[in-house]
Amino acid sequence: MRVVVIGVGVMGLSAAAELSTRGHEVIAIDRFDVGHRFASSSGATRVFRLAHADRDFVRLAIWNHELWKRLERDIGRPLRLTRGLLWRGGLAEDVAHALFAEGVEHEQVDQARQAQLFPELRWAGEGAVVWQPEAGAVRADDSLRACLTRLRRSGGALVGSCTVDSVEPLPSGGVEVVADVSGTRTTWVADRVVVAAGPWAGPLLATMGIEVALTTSLAQVTYVKGGDDIPWSSRPCLVDVPPDGSSFGFYAMPTPGIGYKVGLDDPVRPFSESDFEREPDSLREEEAAQRVRRELPAFDATPVRSELCAWTESVDDRFVIDRVGDIVLACGDSGQGFKFLPMFGEVLANLVEGKAHPDAVAADVASLGLARFAGEEVANVDR
Ligand SMILES: Cc1cc2nc3c(=O)[nH]c(=O)nc-3n(C[C@H](O)[C@H](O)[C@H](O)COP(=O)(O)OP(=O)(O)OC[C@H]3O[C@@H](n4cnc5c(N)ncnc54)[C@H](O)[C@@H]3O)c2cc1C
Repeated sequence: MRVVVIGVGVMGLSAAAELSTRGHEVIAIDRFDVGHRFASSSGATRVFRLAHADRDFVRLAIWNHELWKRLERDIGRPLRLTRGLLWRGGLAEDVAHALFAEGVEHEQVDQARQAQLFPELRWAGEGAVVWQPEAGAVRADDSLRACLTRLRRSGGALVGSCTVDSVEPLPSGGVEVVADVSGTRTTWVADRVVVAAGPWAGPLLATMGIEVALTTSLAQVTYVKGGDDIPWSSRPCLVDVPPDGSSFGFYAMPTPGIGYKVGLDDPVRPFSESDFEREPDSLREEEAAQRVRRELPAFDATPVRSELCAWTESVDDRFVIDRVGDIVLACGDSGQGFKFLPMFGEVLANLVEGKAHPDAVAADVASLGLARFAGEEVANVDR
């Protein structure tokens, strides 16, 4: 099959690599290039975890974990740093229940155990705390490179600086993809198209008659030094959701060669299609450093640098993944997509081929579809 993939963020690039590896003719196109800083997938690291408050996401994460191992074997190097995760505060009870229900190893920890697992972490008081060892940092930029390697070695093509304007279904089946490549109008005819346009997905899909309600904003992350005295790269990830809403949620992860990466769940500003300003906000950077001083007082909270990143939420904070005729779509990453890199490749390639997903997760994958928004109206979805 000939497949055009629009967007080479983590969703599109993993799909392109998987489809090409399965023997399809793949043309992956992007208005910029792999790892560019205007969308969502750039940067050194992302948290990966089995811990989720929803049981279906735990099941998907377990499958995804196996797919990561397969990808790491295939590419010949580890793409993740397994350091464990402490989940503190809001939703921690739900996380513990979901992990227990799916038989995933975890531990509800008291202050003494928390101090043993993460000595630099200050105890935040009341509330449940869950420890889950199968978690850590994905080497994000290296993982994108791994997908690119898979795409290229299997003969797939990557076209950068190419903005898709429209996708038209053809009467005889398949689609015509019309794009602007450095000022020149270019068209491709393909059997299927995968639309994985990240923060631009909503408007692009609307031109194809597919309406998905998405809200996109720009969020900031800051890398702090961690310090030479602290073996920060051996420290776990942290998800901290103040149960009383007294401060913003906070997440942190070891980032090899740089320090510790931290983020606050407080968007900087709404995303606008024509806003390419990505200068970090210095006040937010200081806010993040202050939070590190408070939560991790032994760490060197000196900021190394900060980055802005686009975050595209669906109405229920779950991915939107489906197939409508010859269009396969993936969007609504809801700030938690990177860790699912290998699953996206597998699911999107299966949808392109019309192949069933494994029984253990088929219902969970189906629950990410458009039918949850449109009910009976999505009659032409072909699964
Ligand atoms: C601050 C922050 C922290 C995060 N932390 C984590 C974390 O710890 N763990 C985790 O798992 N996830 C995390 N995420 C989420 C994760 O980064 C995203 O889920 C993921 O990167 C989304 O990838 P994507 O492929 O959907 O979109 P993108 O990476 O945005 O890719 C979309 C691509 O489509 C291209 N495109 C768009 N329109 C067109 C067009 N018309 N023509 C051609 N190309 C087009 C764009 O140029 C872009 O390259 C975080 C996100 C942010 C912002």
